[in-house]
Amino acid sequence: MHGLTSPFDRHGMKSTIEGLFTRRIYAFVPTFTACTAQGCGFNDFTQSAINPSCGICRGTGRIASMHTAHMTCRITWIDAARIDIYRGVVSAEIGDANIQGKYQDLNTYQRVMLTADAYLLVDGQHLKPTSVIVDRSEGITSVDIRAVIVRS
Ligand SMILES: [Zn+2]
Repeated sequence: MHGLTSPFDRHGMKSTIEGLFTRRIYAFVPTFTACTAQGCGFNDFTQSAINPSCGICRGTGRIASMHTAHMTCRITWIDAARIDIYRGVVSAEIGDANIQGKYQDLNTYQRVMLTADAYLLVDGQHLKPTSVIVDRSEGITSVDIRAVIVRS
C-alpha cells in the first residue's frame, strides 16, 4: 500500500474524489410556465389551458422548457459480466447503469428521478434514475444512482 495517499489526508482525499468523478453527465428537467398567448394561460382548477384550442400550448396551458445542468460522475454500464456479479444481490439488466455522483448533486438526481420527462444524458444515452441513495464509504460521501435507458 506504499505510495497511496492516506485516507485521512484531507487534501489527498479531495483529489481522490475529483479523480473518481471524471465523466460528464447532463441533467434535463422540464420546467413549466403558463402560456402567454392572447386569451390563454394555465387554469389551475382544470389543470389545462384557458383556451383549449390554443395552438401555442396545444391546449395544455403551459409551455415546457428544459432546464439543463451538467455534473461529473463515475458510471458503470451493466454488461453481461456484471450481471453475474450482481445476481442475487440486486436485479440488474444489460443496459442499466450504476452512477456514482457527487453529494452536492443529490437534489438534481432526485429531481430527475421524480419529475416526469426529466432525464440524464451520458455517453449519448438517455437515462432515468430508478433509485438515488446517499452512500458513505471509505470516508467519501457520494450518491449512488441506479438508472435505466429510456427511449430518446
Ligand atoms: Zn395557450
